[in-house]
Amino acid sequence: MKNITVIGAGTMGNGIAHVFAQSGYNVSLVDVSSAQLEKAIATITKNLDRQVKKELIDEAGKNAALGNIKTYTSLEEGGAHADLIVEAATENVDLKLKIFGDMDRIAPEGAILATNTSSISITKVAAVTKRPDKVIGMHFMNPVPVMKLVEVIRGYATSNEVTSTIMEMSKNLGKVPVEVNDYPGFVANRILMPIINEAIITLHEGVAGVAEIDTVMKLGMAHPMGPLQLADFIGLDVCLSILRVMHDGFGNPKYAPCPLLVNMVTAGKLGAKAGEGFYSWTPGSKELIVAPSFQ
Ligand code: NAD
Repeated sequence: MKNITVIGAGTMGNGIAHVFAQSGYNVSLVDVSSAQLEKAIATITKNLDRQVKKELIDEAGKNAALGNIKTYTSLEEGGAHADLIVEAATENVDLKLKIFGDMDRIAPEGAILATNTSSISITKVAAVTKRPDKVIGMHFMNPVPVMKLVEVIRGYATSNEVTSTIMEMSKNLGKVPVEVNDYPGFVANRILMPIINEAIITLHEGVAGVAEIDTVMKLGMAHPMGPLQLADFIGLDVCLSILRVMHDGFGNPKYAPCPLLVNMVTAGKLGAKAGEGFYSWTPGSKELIVAPSFQ
């Protein structure tokens, strides 16, 4: 495995390209938007500079990593020689099904097709390909260069061989892979999203305010940040869509999203990226300016 194609150069795609390039793989980064590709290279450069400053890598290591990345606006060009494709495009089922059909058509016969999806069924995307045994979830955490975990998700038909290849490869990236099966929310979001949803329900019922709820969870449970602040980081629209996948997938009312979450998303209060969620944020950055935005 030498040639890795990453589809989607957004928040996750640029981080995934960064860690593969830094580990010596040839990375083809593909996005429909050339502006997004330029932004991704600027972000990767900035993050590598930070690693140089912290003396985690040297200048030569930074330049080698950047030299390992090529950018493409077409999957035909960027995916034709891939040994592994990691899809990290926008979280939308129809889009992922279309991209997986294209990946299957374009990638060499033996290539492994992975997705970084937070919630979409691996078995479902595998079903549109002629190689469901070679389709797998590779769920990196944000920010990718920093977070150690990779949730490796086996679809219904994923082979043992492909699973162990991806487990080994994740270790080569300096990550800690954990193997899980393909059920709604996998493990990470199945546990995290109900915590976030319950925090929002607690706020909605007036049991406590934003700061109080987050302080209880930070100081009482030793969480590095409270669930409402974390929801703002993740994006309230993302939290809502994952909860909906779990609610639909299990048919269990315990996963029903809180009406306050639905209202906030409808009103465009999506969290840090929108400048407003449970807290107020400097737009376009993850810097908190006012905490919290309401009680
Ligand atoms: P994002 O919106 O930041 O980036 C998505 C990118 O995909 C955009 O640059 C967009 O131009 C590109 N894109 C859309 N259609 C495309 C196509 N047909 N071909 C190529 N590129 C295309 O999204 P993100 O936050 O990076 O999320 C990407 C994936 O990672 C999603 O599946 C998401 O669920 C998952 N994920 C996100 C996080 C997170 O914290 N943001 C964490 C874990 C997993």
